[in-house]
Amino acid sequence: MHIITSKKRPRVLIVGANFGGLSAAKALPKGFQVTVLDPWPYFEFLPNIHELVSQIKKPGQIRISRRKIVEAAGHRFLQEKAAYWLPRENYVKTENGTEVPYDFAICAIGGAANFFNAPGAEEIAVGFKSVEDCHAIGKTLAMRMDSGKPFSIAIVGGGIEGVEALGEVLRRYGKRPGIDIHLIDGNNRVLGFGPPGLHEMVVDRCRNLPVSFHMGRSVRKVSTGTLELADGETIPADMTIWTGGVKPRGELLAWGLARESGEWAPVNDSLRSIEHPNLFVVGDTAGLNKPLAKQAYHAMDMGKCAARNIIRLSKGKKLTSFKPSPKPTLITFGNLDTYLVADSFSLAGPALSFAKEAVYQTVMPQFDPGWKTGRAVRAAARLTSGIWGKALPYALSPKELICLGNFRVIR
Ligand SMILES: Cc1cc2nc3c(=O)[nH]c(=O)nc-3n(C[C@H](O)[C@H](O)[C@H](O)COP(=O)(O)OP(=O)(O)OC[C@H]3O[C@@H](n4cnc5c(N)ncnc54)[C@H](O)[C@@H]3O)c2cc1C
Repeated sequence: MHIITSKKRPRVLIVGANFGGLSAAKALPKGFQVTVLDPWPYFEFLPNIHELVSQIKKPGQIRISRRKIVEAAGHRFLQEKAAYWLPRENYVKTENGTEVPYDFAICAIGGAANFFNAPGAEEIAVGFKSVEDCHAIGKTLAMRMDSGKPFSIAIVGGGIEGVEALGEVLRRYGKRPGIDIHLIDGNNRVLGFGPPGLHEMVVDRCRNLPVSFHMGRSVRKVSTGTLELADGETIPADMTIWTGGVKPRGELLAWGLARESGEWAPVNDSLRSIEHPNLFVVGDTAGLNKPLAKQAYHAMDMGKCAARNIIRLSKGKKLTSFKPSPKPTLITFGNLDTYLVADSFSLAGPALSFAKEAVYQTVMPQFDPGWKTGRAVRAAARLTSGIWGKALPYALSPKELICLGNFRVIR
């Protein structure tokens, strides 16, 4: 179905302003009246928030003002949360009561932390989904470690977030007497999406460190100071860090963008909502026919694709399909190791942390609209905490990385 609008400047509403929503906003020309909604003032570079746990990065290094990004693109930013969405009437109302009618819309609201309904988890455990979460973990650890008393940390989830959290705790506190760390996961291996050898490598790196792995076990209940596993064992936990992945936000069903509870918003291959022809869904929220890993680089590509399709739709042109670009997954394990998992091969080696830093150093300036001096100052701040010099050429080229040598192949 083609939608041709007679409006001189068609109105586009983007709900959610992180990787997906902001990439879409930046790709829409000023010929559209674009409004971007998000309740939080900062764009957050989530792939590096684990570094706040060891405090090797500060919040200001992984945050950028959303208003600045959106206004630099010539659009309007409203720091408000979408509360009601009536897609058949092309209308959104915010929590503050602002009404935003539109001709085209993009939903980019990401996902919600998944606590798997474990009693006490949401109330007592600390999440791992924002700068605020990880900064709070970093500050609490620094304070508690200063006291010199024994301290137990439970990390729930052995996916990317859980392993990166463990790595940062070990980077800063691994040799501190009295620390005791537990990693719990329902799967039998950490980083289960990678080759089996990956689990062995992570465990091997922890051989002489105070870490216990509780694999193939799930959490029944979180209480203050303890964690109860489904088999009845109790684990001491002065702090529980919950890294359970994301689930669809309840709003998707309430707004009619999903058909049932727990479903991501279904889209066709041009990212168009299957229910609402002038609405696109991008990033983690998009429920594609062939599900993709919930990753920032896919969210950015989807945002650009949705913007391109809105431009085409407004001119009555055929829509283009979203073609995911294969990129390796990079997982840093503190200063102990870094893993690169690609479709056809997987590598390990601490020097690979260059690549993760390079992705951060390459992507942040793409969002940072700062004027010349400001940008230089912010870039310098980022450079001082990184290993930037050697990283960039290898950022997105695994073949070049192999040529560097000094890596172990993971099988
Ligand atoms: C700890 C961690 C590590 C990660 N590591 C990597 C990695 O190494 N590589 C990688 O590619 N990806 C990584 N990811 C995944 C990546 O961050 C996500 O895939 C990406 O953030 C998705 O982008 P998005 O724009 O779809 O959603 P999000 O980034 O989640 O943004 C959604 C936005 O919508 C806003 N919003 C929500 N509800 C409303 C509402 N009602 N009204 C208005 N706004 C709303 C939110 O405030 C938020 O700003 C990681 C994620 C985490 C948490």
